[in-house]
Amino acid sequence: MSLSAFTMNWNYPTSVRVGVGRVKEVATACQQLGMHKPLLVTDPGLAALPMVADILGICKEAGLAAGLFSQVKGNPTGANVDAGVAAYRAGDHDGVIALGGGSALDAAKAIALMVGQDRPLWDFEDVGDNYTRVNVEGMAPVVAIPTTAGTGSEVGRASVITDEANHVKKIIFHPKMLPALVLLDPELTLGLPAHITAATGMDALSHSLEAYCSPFYHPMAEGIALESMRLVKDYLPRAVANGQDVEARLQMLVASSMGATAFQKGLGGMHALAHPLGALYDAHHGLLNAILMPYVLVANRSALEARMERLARYLNLAEHSFDGFLNWVLELRASLGIPASLAALNIDASQADKVGQMAAEDPSAGGNPLPLNAADYSRIFRKAVAGDLTA
Ligand SMILES: [Zn+2]
Repeated sequence: MSLSAFTMNWNYPTSVRVGVGRVKEVATACQQLGMHKPLLVTDPGLAALPMVADILGICKEAGLAAGLFSQVKGNPTGANVDAGVAAYRAGDHDGVIALGGGSALDAAKAIALMVGQDRPLWDFEDVGDNYTRVNVEGMAPVVAIPTTAGTGSEVGRASVITDEANHVKKIIFHPKMLPALVLLDPELTLGLPAHITAATGMDALSHSLEAYCSPFYHPMAEGIALESMRLVKDYLPRAVANGQDVEARLQMLVASSMGATAFQKGLGGMHALAHPLGALYDAHHGLLNAILMPYVLVANRSALEARMERLARYLNLAEHSFDGFLNWVLELRASLGIPASLAALNIDASQADKVGQMAAEDPSAGGNPLPLNAADYSRIFRKAVAGDLTA
């Protein structure tokens, strides 16, 4: 199949334009959403690449007075969002182009939310019905363009922002934070180094896997999760082995968007642990999920036997069972060069009690197959530090 056969326009869960070279449609995408002066939000690393100059050039040619804001950290903070809102207001902007990996996309979506609010950011944390406090009319429209394949934040309705004062990652949520238009262009991901490709790809897998395993009733999400995991199985090793494999890059971008679509069904223990670990140790989110994955699976084994059998059959694994799936995860992880324990990231067990407490309180914990308490999460964390896969 030629690559042009992959050029499509989708309207589920939002408008998604997928295909090689489609970043060139950025200006028309902005215009469709009524923008005249978009603010391009990205991280400092990308801001230095030709990609950003190209996008600003395309906007300028189309008569759009685009501005640039790039003060976004990996694991973006409330202060980053505040600075972005100030830049948006100072430049009199009327929309946001969100460009980058999960951190830049999350920051950009939060900035687009906050330009129209007079309450502080943390008032919109995803707790209870806090989202109803949002002044929807004030929100800025967003065109989202991912440059990594993992978080799927481009089709997500939330942003993860670090509350620096309290060293905790908070989920900021509103249904309208889902970007109105998404461009999935694999050429933007060709330059990603293999280890980032591997870690972000495993994040996509963790989204689909946790969504698939969560106990809530959502067959549509479950179907999307299954096919997303099939794409990861077939294309992540290819994308890691050869970063210039455009089809593998495209399929991983799609798998990533699908993973984030699927996790409307729920996440679970991997993310419940990865969020506090990211906040406490500033470690890479996808890498944390990749390392935690088998430990969390083993802890949930009693609730997952039948589900894993079905999943292993769909993925056409050698053995259609929980162990068949677990072994595939372990082999994949090793083949991608991902460490087997958290100790490899210089994380020790000294804060195990705190990690357990934070994981039990994390909103993702609600989707875990078994109800786990703080002590259970501490135990899983200690095992992941030690590399101990026994139940
Ligand atoms: Zn994730």
